[in-house]
Amino acid sequence: MIRIDLPQEDIPRYWYNIVSDLPDLPPPIHPVTKEPLGPKDFYPIFTRECVNQDFSKEKYIEIPDELREFYIRIGRPTPLYRARRLENYLRTPAKIYYKREDVTPTGSHKLNTAIVQAFCAAREGLEFLTTETGAGQWGSALSYATAMMGIRALVFMVRISYIQKPYRKLVMKLYGADIVPSPSDKTEVGRKYLERDPNHPGSLGIAISEAIETAINNEKAKYSLGSVLNHVLLHQTIIGQEVKKQFELIDEKPDILIGCVGGGSNFAGFTFPFIEEILNGREEYDVIAVEPKAAPSLTNGEYRYDFGDSAGITPLIKMFTLGHDFVPPPIHAGGLRYHGAAPTVSLLKSKGVIRSVTYTQEETFEAGRIFAMTEGIIPAPETTHAVRAAIDEALKAKENGEEKVIAFNFSGHGLLDLKGYEDVLKIS
Ligand SMILES: *Cc1c(COP(=O)(O)O)cnc(C)c1O
Repeated sequence: MIRIDLPQEDIPRYWYNIVSDLPDLPPPIHPVTKEPLGPKDFYPIFTRECVNQDFSKEKYIEIPDELREFYIRIGRPTPLYRARRLENYLRTPAKIYYKREDVTPTGSHKLNTAIVQAFCAAREGLEFLTTETGAGQWGSALSYATAMMGIRALVFMVRISYIQKPYRKLVMKLYGADIVPSPSDKTEVGRKYLERDPNHPGSLGIAISEAIETAINNEKAKYSLGSVLNHVLLHQTIIGQEVKKQFELIDEKPDILIGCVGGGSNFAGFTFPFIEEILNGREEYDVIAVEPKAAPSLTNGEYRYDFGDSAGITPLIKMFTLGHDFVPPPIHAGGLRYHGAAPTVSLLKSKGVIRSVTYTQEETFEAGRIFAMTEGIIPAPETTHAVRAAIDEALKAKENGEEKVIAFNFSGHGLLDLKGYEDVLKIS
């Protein structure tokens, strides 16, 4: 079968909380006192419901019916495809499957959590959510979500991207969001940077600081983050739950599971429902996290406490990190340019439950080209990392004459990222 669909009733009723199966997950701590932090320390920043989910030890958290309806609206359940034309091209005995998270209105998995965060904010009586965005994937998702929930988004967009990437900015504006190039004169942090350099290009770290400062100083606002935190990864677990059902439908079981990792949310969403089976001793899978060589936190980072942002204003979290002041080279896969990785994903790596690999930009865009030529879909630069690893595993299976079943998460399409293809593959 080329395409495996699920009926709307099969949209998951629960999110799977992996924290319940990881009792030794180190807590966030205060940067000065080093004391563990609790929910009340985070209430001023995030919505109460999301903070409570972040600290929950419940294994399954129920998805409200209204939200299941929104999941239908954004295109769920998303299809699982068999990459038969890619298999033929590679002449591999392996079977390759990919989960279509590109079919949502903004083109990536990020809406899976954006609509939940906006839903919680609206229910808690807030008027707007603040956030940061680099290239604009997360900003677009949150702008869509706030529009649907009848509230507003205030997006601090890294100034250099604001100038160089006009299309996602326009997407956000069409959804009614307010976009501010960062650093801005709207916050103390921003003004400090502008004083030093009125044409400061900005960075994600500065934009995060501006978004948090604005949320803390406004009773009607909270801050929203698109990856890394437990509750964000939790919301994404509907992806893997759907995939499990889709494999059951065709009576197949994957051997290898692959996802690209920036902060870790699409990787976690895709793999955690399978890793639940590993942690409870029921199944074994080879789970692979794919990173760019330019920002290899899981592969070459240190497992220690570090700040979540570059400016050093967040609590300390234990994760694989390249150091919060690490500035990744400006690769086109903007969503993978993060100095750390989610605490849960990091713990799984340190335990040897998952492994990680890295690729160069040339290797991944070439995989994206092959995928476009065979399967007909142009992957986002981030997604090409997962495609590359799937191709390599399929070639390994060919060498060894093994009929492996490989599944990867197709996190998003690249139709607004064509500049990367142009620059790296030198097509024009
Ligand atoms: C943001 C993004 C990523 C990386 O973020 P994660 O939180 O690691 O998933 C990957 N793929 C796409 C298409 C993205 O937009």
